Amino acid sequence: DLLPEQIRSIDSIVSAGFFPASYWSLLDQVARYYQTSLMQVVRVALPPGLLARSQRRIRLIKPDASEASLNSAAQQILKLLKSSKTKDYSWQFVQRQVKGANRGLQDLLKLNWVESYLEPPATIRPQLRQAVILVSTQGELSDGSATQSSVRQREILEVLKRNGGEMWLTDLLQHCRTTSPTVKRLQEQGCVLLQGREVLRSEHAPDVEQDAAKVLTHHQAEVLKKIHTVTAFEKILLHGVTGSGKTEVYLQAIAPMLQRGQSALVLVPEIGLTPQLTDRFRARFGDRVCVYHSALSDGERFDTWRQMLTGSPQVVIGTRSAVFAPLPNLGLIVLDEEHDSSFKQDQPAPCYHARSVAQWRAELENCPLILGSATPSLETWLDSQSSTYLSLPKRILDRPLPKIDIVDMRKELHDRNPSIFSRSLQAQLKKLKENNQKGLLFIHRRGHSTFVSCRSCGYVMECPNCDVSLSYHHVHETAQPILRCHYCNYTQLQPQRCPSCSSSYFKNFGSGTQRVVQEIAKLFPELKTIRFDSDTTRAKGAHRALLSQFAHGDADLLVGTQMLTKGIDLPQVTLVGIISADGLLNLADFRASERAFQTLVQVAGRAGRGTEPGRVILQTYAPEHPVIQAVQRQQYEPFVATELEQRAALNYPPYGRLVLLRLSGLNEQTVRSTAELLADQLLHSEDEVLGPAPATIAKINQRYRWQILLKLTSDRIPNVMELRSQCPSTVSLTIDVDPMNL
Ligand code: ADP
Ligand code: ZN
Ligand code: ZN
Repeated sequence: DLLPEQIRSIDSIVSAGFFPASYWSLLDQVARYYQTSLMQVVRVALPPGLLARSQRRIRLIKPDASEASLNSAAQQILKLLKSSKTKDYSWQFVQRQVKGANRGLQDLLKLNWVESYLEPPATIRPQLRQAVILVSTQGELSDGSATQSSVRQREILEVLKRNGGEMWLTDLLQHCRTTSPTVKRLQEQGCVLLQGREVLRSEHAPDVEQDAAKVLTHHQAEVLKKIHTVTAFEKILLHGVTGSGKTEVYLQAIAPMLQRGQSALVLVPEIGLTPQLTDRFRARFGDRVCVYHSALSDGERFDTWRQMLTGSPQVVIGTRSAVFAPLPNLGLIVLDEEHDSSFKQDQPAPCYHARSVAQWRAELENCPLILGSATPSLETWLDSQSSTYLSLPKRILDRPLPKIDIVDMRKELHDRNPSIFSRSLQAQLKKLKENNQKGLLFIHRRGHSTFVSCRSCGYVMECPNCDVSLSYHHVHETAQPILRCHYCNYTQLQPQRCPSCSSSYFKNFGSGTQRVVQEIAKLFPELKTIRFDSDTTRAKGAHRALLSQFAHGDADLLVGTQMLTKGIDLPQVTLVGIISADGLLNLADFRASERAFQTLVQVAGRAGRGTEPGRVILQTYAPEHPVIQAVQRQQYEPFVATELEQRAALNYPPYGRLVLLRLSGLNEQTVRSTAELLADQLLHSEDEVLGPAPATIAKINQRYRWQILLKLTSDRIPNVMELRSQCPSTVSLTIDVDPMNL
């Protein structure tokens, strides 16, 4: 339960206007369900920087209060505040001056004699801009004197009048070639008023052309009709194959909502997905659309937050944490690509899933929640048997789904083709240019592809801090390649020889994006490629720039990782090459098959969305794998039926529930013994305790990681918060309810 201190801080957040008071019950529900403190939830909900850098201050609100009946700390605080000109001090200052200040403050707060509030840091305070407002032209115009300054002043008033009686000061000064003292004099004479107006800092987005609602296909119209009938909370699964026009349905579901004065929240998996999607929304709804994600600056996030609080009807498009967008008057929540695991936060606590939080929110606001996907998660699929199920079984305009060819890479090697591109992929690449079409090449990021190993002794270069292999990066043709750890960013030059056996047959044999780009340059010099991965999209606006360069420029191929699978809608793309599906098939997780199926179907779904049909070449060393077979058939239901049977047999989600306890610390022995201690205690519960065991990655950034997995026998989630008190201060414990990454 809450500490008084927590309640007070949250009170201050409310009174500082950072979020509406009604929003508490949502935050409280998140804290209870995910077993973290309310403050931790507040921290993920609020724009970053706001809480950490806000200053807590206290202010006297009953100036005639008498100190007589108070305890000594409260007396001193009161005296201190009275001595201040503004009756206001920073809490830090008060704490330094008064012994036992905390208790004193509690008493004063109870009496309602002082208030405690948060002041945001200067960097994210509202940005003000001076506006000049015309009040009266009378005095000046009747004066009629012809001194230089009064001519100038008359001119200023004329210009203001022509501009509707109001201008930004900077614009006015520039227009009239004058200085601000002149304008100030006009203010003294009562002719104009200077006023600071808040301007919103927002992500600069290029203009888009207005776009009218499309004439819906029969299937889309049926789905929309059903959605329009829902006015209270209801969970709706919109299951539509790739390119079936789900986004158009969202747009037309939202339009009447804005007209009624309500707002809508659209959640998407990753920032990489947002430029194309936000453009489509802005083309329809103009500046009533705002985006909210972690790539915005603190100032932009703060301003967007305030814009949302105004309650004017708007559409917020955002990633995971936007589920906490403080929109009063919410009419609809859409969670697009609902199966995507980036909706789940692994670290730090609260380890929340935006899909669950969205559901609680929709329940509280009593509005519908649409979960959209071509490949719904098994959780949502099973759940849809008791909620509303809508489907778009066909691509729009009856365009066919792409044809998927499976290529056995073992055969390729056997037939003396050592290239990372199979013969049939090469044949398709050759045709690309002459047909004036474009292609995508997909590489699974953490496939066993980018590591550096010795072909003589098998030695693999690993990170000294983390239990993972280092990835190969080619910075420049002439420079020596570097090796980097994707977890802690440890970097070193690649050794020329094997550190273990000195063999010179020691290099990168993988196929990361860079390697693929290089191979294309060698084999198909006429093809222009663009790399699209976490390295090339790091800069602000890079996603948008690269995608636009690909769509409108002369590039033929986009070579990328997971980012390619999400929401890219480019009609010129006819070819999708999956370089190797095997890394995906071999993840050590009970959801591996589900994820592999989803990723492969999604990436294949990028092909043939325009008038030309699509073609997918899927390369693998395991063509007989059931997931590969299911992907080739592109049939969701049979795949899910088999997968659900297996989950049920082992009591895994979506049947049995899981809770994961993650422990980490610098001392391996302490972490391990703490894990053993906690596991022992849990044995007394009726739930199944798995572990303790080292985490899949047993060490990250010098910290050793152990975990305990609880397989629950009922829907009742045990309270494991209490175990926290048994952890030494050097071991941190994170509770992950419904974990996604084991
Ligand atoms: P999904 O989100 O299901 O993958 P999209 O909404 O991106 O599908 O639609 C795929 C393409 O079809 C987009 O380019 C979109 O503009 C177009 N589209 C959608 N609905 C219609 C329609 N009713 N008529 C014509 N084109 C449409
Ligand atoms: Zn070696
Ligand atoms: Zn590392």
